[in-house]
Amino acid sequence: MATNIQSTLESLHDRYRPLNTGAVATYIPELTKADPDLFCIAVRFVDGTGFTIGDTDARFTLQSCSKPLILAQALSTVGRDMVMRLTGVEPTGNSFSSMVGLDQIGKPLNPMVNAGAIVTASLLPGDSPEDRYERMRTNLSAYLGSDAQLDAAVYDSELRTSDRNRALAYLLKSKGTIEGDVKQHLDLYIRQCAISANTQQLANAAATLANNGVNPVTGKRAVSAEYIKDILVVMLMNGMYNYAGRWAYEVGIPAKSGVSGSIFGVVPGVMGIAVYSPRLDDYGNSTRGLAVFRDLSKRYNMHIFDQRGPK
Ligand code: GLU
Repeated sequence: MATNIQSTLESLHDRYRPLNTGAVATYIPELTKADPDLFCIAVRFVDGTGFTIGDTDARFTLQSCSKPLILAQALSTVGRDMVMRLTGVEPTGNSFSSMVGLDQIGKPLNPMVNAGAIVTASLLPGDSPEDRYERMRTNLSAYLGSDAQLDAAVYDSELRTSDRNRALAYLLKSKGTIEGDVKQHLDLYIRQCAISANTQQLANAAATLANNGVNPVTGKRAVSAEYIKDILVVMLMNGMYNYAGRWAYEVGIPAKSGVSGSIFGVVPGVMGIAVYSPRLDDYGNSTRGLAVFRDLSKRYNMHIFDQRGPK
């Protein structure tokens, strides 16, 4: 079995390494420094076994892959009703940093776009900015299965260039959707995006969600089982930018993608999968990442609505 899984990963890696379409994200200057050829695939099963291939040591920032995990912390902190009141679960059809509709509706449509994620970050608990960050970092560590570290260069780079997120945050404050110190909330949001991981750690996070909230490597609970369906639905509906519908149709695995080139996907009760490769397509999804997930889903019946079940 283990040999089969490792050789499957090897064949996927060989097959999609020549795929060189797409481009590394440039709007956060530090991200342009990523080596576009990096490529790693990792899986973690709910029994704790893990497999990985490629650039296993390569580290990247979580970016939007942090959003479902922070949504989970917000749900655990203020509960479902409050989170639903301040954001929602509807696809936007607009870009992830869009302001369209925000002035009229007054709240973001879902927590996977930047405006929604800034709202969930604003709900994180703590007595001081340091305490809030530390609690968030500890929570992210529980998913990754190791002590989460901030990539200071990416954090600084985004802090200097995030005028758009700043605009979103102040608009939300003017609407009463965000309360308190906007600057502090935004700082926390930028920090969650700048937490770094390797691909196996990201697969651990996915496996934690696949395993009802318990990290299968450490045995520690990261989130109550009660909220798993909330998080997975939001990922399936909104996790892959404006490709989410096609993704749900073709791949059918709740997943989240980030501009650093990472994608993590959850096969409930079975496994977590993560792919890192920095070249992005026009939607903002890793081109090799998409190819690997499409292939895996088809090959092993991983679509969650495929009633033949994973093979
Ligand atoms: N930190 C990025 C931003 O706020 C995250 C975007 C993403 O990965 O989708 O723009």
